[in-house]
Amino acid sequence: MNTGTEAHPGVRLLPCDISAYREGNTGIEYITTFDSGLPGPHVMVNALTHGNELCGAHALTYLFENDVRPVRGRLTLSFANVAAYETFDAANPYASRFVDEDFNRLWDQSTLEGSRTSQELTRARAMREVFGVVDHLLDIHSVDLPQPAMLLAGQRAKGRALAAAIGKPRHVVMDRGHDAGKRVRDFAAFDDPESPSSACLVECGYHFHTEATDIAIETSLRFLRHLGVVSDSFVDAHLPQGDDEPQVFVEVTDAVTIKSDEFRFVRTFEGFETLPEESTLIAHDGNHPIRTPYPDCVLVMPAREPMPGKTAVRLGRLA
Ligand SMILES: [Zn+2]
Repeated sequence: MNTGTEAHPGVRLLPCDISAYREGNTGIEYITTFDSGLPGPHVMVNALTHGNELCGAHALTYLFENDVRPVRGRLTLSFANVAAYETFDAANPYASRFVDEDFNRLWDQSTLEGSRTSQELTRARAMREVFGVVDHLLDIHSVDLPQPAMLLAGQRAKGRALAAAIGKPRHVVMDRGHDAGKRVRDFAAFDDPESPSSACLVECGYHFHTEATDIAIETSLRFLRHLGVVSDSFVDAHLPQGDDEPQVFVEVTDAVTIKSDEFRFVRTFEGFETLPEESTLIAHDGNHPIRTPYPDCVLVMPAREPMPGKTAVRLGRLA
């Protein structure tokens, strides 16, 4: 692992050593499955889909170190893009998102079964058999800017139901993913309305804040509790107490794609601002004003560095 001479400002969370989990017990590196021997669902908590999203590595390490075991069904804990994680450099902390390409845009059959190769595709092809057999998935992520944590539930009712059952973070976003390629969250049965399999992606806030680890652990425990895979005593020992706030569900309707080199927001948006008036000005793209298309428009995941061709922000309705 590289250590830069000077950490990027704001980097308070650093990688942890996950080499103990390399061998695993599945024949696939960095994937461990615990089998209760009793009937029940096969559930999976996955970290490091993006190599610089460190909180997931900390959360799984926490679960391993606390001897998490399923009381029914099976529990798989996996670290996905370890090759990218191993390149993490605190002086350049955004650079280790992936090695060759985004692991989370590869999850359609034609890409997985195609002839193209990359480090991430090799890893995806190795992990595919596991993602293909688990019943329920929690995929742990974090984001480029300090902003509220959220669950991304996909576009099916079952994803929303899973997010509601997890109960926290407060914000839940229903979206169809990215034109650039399918996410793990939307892979195969997870996005098939006829299948009972379900998945949620949790964005635990800013990559390099220690609070992201707390959110990743809490969300994992809530996910496992909902599915009845871990004992009540394990949950009680590790899950923070407190009342849940009602969740806010946002259905993404539009994505603002940046067209010019001169895109700028009219002010700093943190995410989940609800703009009551239709046609509220939110940004300029060169000379082109960007306005909200309807009343009570919610801004989702404003970009850190607006770049042409990328999504500046998603727009949604309370749902
Ligand atoms: Zn991510």
